[in-house]
Amino acid sequence: MTLARYNKKRNFTITSEPPGKKKSSKTKNLYLIQKHAASHLHYDFRLELNGRLLSWAVPKGPSLDPNVKRLAMHVEDHPLDYGSFEGTIPKGQYGGGTVMLWDTGTWESDDPNLEAAYRKGHLKFTLKGKKLKGTWNLVQIKRNPKSWLLIKVDDKYAKPADEYDITEKKTKSVKTNRTMDQIAKKSRAVWNSNREDEKNDKPIMKPKRKSVSKAAKKNSAKKKLSAKVQKKK
Ligand code: MN
Repeated sequence: MTLARYNKKRNFTITSEPPGKKKSSKTKNLYLIQKHAASHLHYDFRLELNGRLLSWAVPKGPSLDPNVKRLAMHVEDHPLDYGSFEGTIPKGQYGGGTVMLWDTGTWESDDPNLEAAYRKGHLKFTLKGKKLKGTWNLVQIKRNPKSWLLIKVDDKYAKPADEYDITEKKTKSVKTNRTMDQIAKKSRAVWNSNREDEKNDKPIMKPKRKSVSKAAKKNSAKKKLSAKVQKKK
């Protein structure tokens, strides 16, 4: 039931985002960030846990500076399929705007019970992303449960904010190496071609039908029909 809120907010006949279905993903412990130019630009921070993506919207994006606490608004769980989404959500739809896959990789934690840690409002984990690496904390602000803070732990991947701002330095997609503007222009075509790839991955075999002419189809349909009629007799 965890994806009900995700599905309720979206019209899948209009948006090209994937419908929310729980399914086992190929990768475990998926981590990703989607840069999302909706009504306000933000970075959607997502961690795979037990078949769904825990999600936070981080208005300013991550900072590598351990002294900087970035507000992370807790939002509804997203389906694992969402983890590879890049494209444009149509205007007027929930979250309408351009989405870039800004970072992707895996996450790890020493915590033996991550569901409990999540419910308690404190996750400590290590990211193995293309852009973000090292250890991080996500901490819930108790007086305002929707608000969490994303904070870098001081390790070899930490950098002072006045020396390095990763959201300014890294502005391209890890999936397609495109800028937000390029995604906005070409998104639909890429999404469609991705969907074709997905279809080809599925073990549904119907190559023969494609090569059969319309006339042949009609004939075989007639044959099937008469076969059915024969059976009934
Ligand atoms: Mn978003």
